[in-house]
Amino acid sequence: MNAEFFSSKIIDWYLDHQRDLPWRRTRDPYKIWLSEIILQQTRVVQGLPYYLAFVSAYPTIDSLAKAPEQKILRLWQGLGYYSRARNLHKCAREISKKFNGAFPKSFNELVRLPGIGPYTAAAIASIAFKENVAVVDGNVFRVMARVFGVDKDIASDEGKKYFFSLANQLIDKNQPDIFNQAVMEFGALHCLPQNPKCAECIFAKHCEANKKNLQDVLPVKSKKVKIKNRYFNYFIIRSKNKLLMRQRNGKDIWKGLYDFYLVETTRSRKVETLILEDEFLNGSTIINESKSFTHLLSHQKLKVKFIKVEKSLTKKEELVIKNQNLQWFSPTQISKLPKPILVDRFLREDR
Ligand code: SF4
Repeated sequence: MNAEFFSSKIIDWYLDHQRDLPWRRTRDPYKIWLSEIILQQTRVVQGLPYYLAFVSAYPTIDSLAKAPEQKILRLWQGLGYYSRARNLHKCAREISKKFNGAFPKSFNELVRLPGIGPYTAAAIASIAFKENVAVVDGNVFRVMARVFGVDKDIASDEGKKYFFSLANQLIDKNQPDIFNQAVMEFGALHCLPQNPKCAECIFAKHCEANKKNLQDVLPVKSKKVKIKNRYFNYFIIRSKNKLLMRQRNGKDIWKGLYDFYLVETTRSRKVETLILEDEFLNGSTIINESKSFTHLLSHQKLKVKFIKVEKSLTKKEELVIKNQNLQWFSPTQISKLPKPILVDRFLREDR
């Protein structure tokens, strides 16, 4: 199948089937960038309300650049992969400061900005500025691998290079913006990971995977991610109407978000033992203990428990609190803090 046939077929399909999404009605690189960052690792239905909330709270890149990080994290709450939100902010500040609030227009400049990888740079450059550069995301890998029968590993550098070059040979040079969106949309709506709609497909006769029955085999992805198990024992300590919470820092998940006093273990342990072994908790009385909740992240499996304890603090312990980044917060203050979604859920259900 030649490039012209592929691109004209897929563009025709797109014009008939595309979803009406707000970021498709604009050429504003700020809004296209926002949508691309929000939609990484996120389905459109889940990401759409976040996109609308961000555009309404921060209509321009300068307004986003000036916002406090805490407000951005709070608005991001529930989307996960919080480093994306921090990079979003960093990138907005850089564009605001170095580029006077105007997005750089080329792929090569965009890819140097924080949080913008080749995929996002290609999306902005092609959709907002019509640069001839192909976007290659999971959907594109799947469509290309199946239609052209490519069995190269999409997790390998060689595979990535191959697909990037193939997509750039196929791109419609007059409308790279439409072409890129067409391939992604075709992967998202038609050539699905499971049960692709081959019987009613525009490529049914030409598609290598369909001809050879390889839909379940292509694309090839070799890397198996090792999942790490972590046990989070959250201790809920109350004084009058305030709760003890801590802002997470360091190179770990949920940086900048607030949770509770945490004792992390590598296996399930009895709460009584944890209290005995922990200098700060020693002497606390257990009020109640939740069941264990499982929370899945991309490379981690968290087993989370919430344990309410009664504890009166000595002066020395008040000092420990300060040193450990712990602080007392009222319910109103807590409602404004950015929190991991399972902490937020616990607080709502505990009211
Ligand atoms: S025939 Fe099936 S596998 Fe091939 S492109 Fe169409 S939907 Fe995808």
